[in-house]
Amino acid sequence: MLETSPKIEEVGIYNAKKAKEWKVQPSKTSKNCHNYIRSIVDTLNLEPNPEKNVIALSLGDPTIYGNLNPSKETTEAVQKALEATSYNGYGPCVGFESARKAVANYLSYDGVEFNPRDIILCSGCSSSLDLCISAVACSSRNDNILMPKPGFPIYRTLAESMGIGVKTYNLLPEKGWEIDLLHLESQIDQNTAVIILNNPSNPCGSVYDEDHLRAFLSIARRYQIPVIADEVYERIVFPHKKFVSTAALESGVPILICGGLAKRFLVPGWRIGWIAVHDPIDALSDIRTALLALSQKIIGCNTLIQGAIPSVLLETPQSFYEDIINFLLENAKMTYDALKKIPGLVPYMPDGALYMMVKVDLEKFPEFETGLQFITGLMEEESVFCLPGDCFQLPGFMRIVITVPTDLMIEACNRISDFCNKYYT
Ligand SMILES: *Cc1c(COP(=O)(O)O)cnc(C)c1O
Repeated sequence: MLETSPKIEEVGIYNAKKAKEWKVQPSKTSKNCHNYIRSIVDTLNLEPNPEKNVIALSLGDPTIYGNLNPSKETTEAVQKALEATSYNGYGPCVGFESARKAVANYLSYDGVEFNPRDIILCSGCSSSLDLCISAVACSSRNDNILMPKPGFPIYRTLAESMGIGVKTYNLLPEKGWEIDLLHLESQIDQNTAVIILNNPSNPCGSVYDEDHLRAFLSIARRYQIPVIADEVYERIVFPHKKFVSTAALESGVPILICGGLAKRFLVPGWRIGWIAVHDPIDALSDIRTALLALSQKIIGCNTLIQGAIPSVLLETPQSFYEDIINFLLENAKMTYDALKKIPGLVPYMPDGALYMMVKVDLEKFPEFETGLQFITGLMEEESVFCLPGDCFQLPGFMRIVITVPTDLMIEACNRISDFCNKYYT
């Protein structure tokens, strides 16, 4: 106990002396929590060429260059919600009924029907994934979860921080990044609690057709393992393909569908996501209870945006979605054609989402031993930043975003071309 309070000027010395005695230890959860994009990118010590402006083809945030903006309806919906003054307080932990009803309606198409009671609102789709994984898997049972490789790194971050085992199934680049179903099946074991599906895919930009989804779901059904379907890029699909939701296939597999406003409505910072429980055989009633319990940890998501959700989802005109798709498709085609001509690179044309994967034939670039060195060189010489495939567990590839303004995209392709031509042997 302190006899007298230390004088202000003594506090610094006092703290330094006492700090060790406090033994404030970080938790195991925090120590097991890794952001793979940050940890890989930070080790690269990336320095751009000071003579060239940086072109970031790395960030999965469509808003950074200001060329893609939310619709007028979306912006006005938030203004109205703010002025209504009825969205300043706490809401129900699972979200307002009006907002959940709007999400249920928005997701009810192609014969699928969701009910507001199937919907839980979350702080972004990341939080939806967090709740779903926490609800179905735990470390004390030695559970593992199966996730795609290459895949979105947050699945791994979430599972590892909870002490849940991580197993991966391969995607096949030469088959439009379809799932290697035999490999998937070989990875399932007694402790597999859930399989994560990501369609359309980040980082691949692939979109699965109905037959492939059915084949995937039949494996989940055979082993009686539920699915978490990350459909955050739902309907961000080029015209020659059709987005098919797992819920539309009447597979009999219980599925937790995760989505949100971030990508399709171009507002990732608003942090609104949802879980839609698709449970055709009533296998998830305990999981619904678990999700309700977990939603109480965070007391629901931003109520102001919840007030805007009905207008955002139901009044956004079709032309808004179409304009974005057209922009992405033109950008993707242009980039694909430009990169295809570059020796040593193999671009994979996406069918949707916001990304394109590019294979780097490292044998042809002996100057660089690893893909990470290649990425670093590209930044140092050309100030073009692409994310290494290592962030998605696929070294030897790089992911580029196709949301960047077309003139910058052209400039980036020219610089990548100069760089590759310089080092190709
Ligand atoms: C961006 C993204 C999310 C996260 O979305 P937020 O709503 O911003 O949390 C989830 N899954 C995938 C595959 C993503 O690319």
